[in-house]
Amino acid sequence: FQIHSSILYDADNNRLGILLVMNDLTEHVRLEGMRKEFVANVSHEIRTPATAIQGYIETLIHNDVSLEQREKFLKIIYRHSNRLNSIIDDLLMLAGLEKSDSSFQFEKFPVSDLISSATNIVSVKAEKSLIEIVFNIGENHQIYAHPLLAEQALTNLLSNSIKYSPKGSTIRISTRYIHGGLMVEVQDEGCGIPLENQEQIFERFYRVDRGRSRDQGGTGLGLSIVKRVMNIHGGNATLESKVDKGSTFRLFFPGE
Ligand code: ADP
Repeated sequence: FQIHSSILYDADNNRLGILLVMNDLTEHVRLEGMRKEFVANVSHEIRTPATAIQGYIETLIHNDVSLEQREKFLKIIYRHSNRLNSIIDDLLMLAGLEKSDSSFQFEKFPVSDLISSATNIVSVKAEKSLIEIVFNIGENHQIYAHPLLAEQALTNLLSNSIKYSPKGSTIRISTRYIHGGLMVEVQDEGCGIPLENQEQIFERFYRVDRGRSRDQGGTGLGLSIVKRVMNIHGGNATLESKVDKGSTFRLFFPGE
């Protein structure tokens, strides 16, 4: 608590009493803690690839390295610079989502438009992993959403499903009307998420397996973007998952 005190006087300057104002700082302290943790995480996430890039470039400049090693180092540098770019893209995206919810314009449109645009974006990655995406979309199902943000949320879910699923598996996308809104569901046959990690999974930089996420080019920000996008829509993102069986992520978009 933060306490301010002041003495109160009436119009004739007689002392009336003391005014004590107590501010509950719990929320403030919590937010400040989250901000500090976020900054520390960002620094760490950016510094790791930046330091690696610098180290490999220094080695290339100052040492005699074989052609073979040179190619290997350049590939590592390329991978780390891609990583830096992804982190920056995701951070800029999150920053852009910090505006008030009401500044985003929603439209009503066929959910098939959303699904085909998101699927197109991930199609090359899916093909590389021989992953088939199958659809069960209600005919004429309409969604009330911000088209680009909804596309971003669905793309993030799909690219996660591709990243964390074995070659040759199937991803199912379905839609259904529920409680005055539309549910979009993405189901995969991937590695799944242990129950004890499911609550934190939507937090920034949280990953179940840091190494695996890194290897897959993950930033740890994808699901926090999904969560923010769904908050903007007044909806939510939920998860049901079983280790080694697969995960189902659901996006709920309230109606108009
Ligand atoms: P990342 O860039 O690491 O994928 P996300 O915020 O998108 O970051 O996801 C956070 C973590 O949640 C991932 O690192 C992974 O451990 C887990 N995860 C997300 N989606 C899936 C999925 N479909 N199957 C298994 N694990 C997943």
